[in-house]
Amino acid sequence: MLPDSHIHTNFSQDSSALPETQIDQCLLLGMKELCITDHHDYEGDAKEDSFVLDFDAYLPYMRRLSRKYADRIRINIGVELGLQLHIQEYLEKLAQNLEVDFIIGSSHFIDKKDPYFPDFFEGKSEREVYEHYFEVTLNRIRTLDCFDSFGHLDYIVRYGPSANRHYSFQAYQDHIDPILKALVEKGKSLECNTAGFRYGLNHPNPSEDILKRYHELGGELITLGSDAHSPNAIACEFGRMQAILKDCGFRYIMVYRQRKPHPIPL
Ligand SMILES: [Zn+2]
Ligand SMILES: [Zn+2]
Repeated sequence: MLPDSHIHTNFSQDSSALPETQIDQCLLLGMKELCITDHHDYEGDAKEDSFVLDFDAYLPYMRRLSRKYADRIRINIGVELGLQLHIQEYLEKLAQNLEVDFIIGSSHFIDKKDPYFPDFFEGKSEREVYEHYFEVTLNRIRTLDCFDSFGHLDYIVRYGPSANRHYSFQAYQDHIDPILKALVEKGKSLECNTAGFRYGLNHPNPSEDILKRYHELGGELITLGSDAHSPNAIACEFGRMQAILKDCGFRYIMVYRQRKPHPIPL
């Protein structure tokens, strides 16, 4: 089983899965390596934020588990960092000092709001929101250096009023191509996130055409993750994804150890 590089545990506010349960499920599936990537979405002000990670508890706990399981599975320790430009300095400093293997950078909040909630789309056309999401994302990728792989690129379509019914790479190519080019230029990975299959989209995030386009543009660094918040979602659709990635022209996925990519053959 290919390594799963996007797994949440109860250190994330939206998961109740014990780290041990997540790791045991990976073992059951025959995985040799994984990465735990709990949420850290810092807002930059004093207000209570439920998606702030308690690094002082998280890192020692994961290091202990990593040692405990060392003869059975390699546990990499990561974080899924919410990218926002108004906290640029904070994010860069954090990334430089964090002793982790892997940092996923994700666009969760847009204009300090979470698209997960339906009022995010109120009074705007879906196309307007999707385009704005891609513009904000492009700026973040161009400006920030605090991540290794960019998470679930077209994540916004999970939450649109008509989801992906009017969405395709071709329809948004003018917005998506510059993002892919920026990742290639900066030597950052693009994440292939299989949670899209669970959200009823019937495609990964980003969609197959975007993965193919990234490869055409010279992108070679792909990371693979299920975004599992519970054990039954670990490595979700990895068999199907492996075939899709090969079709797109990829021969390897990357796992990150101490912030450096290592190829795993597909
Ligand atoms: Zn995410
Ligand atoms: Zn996630």
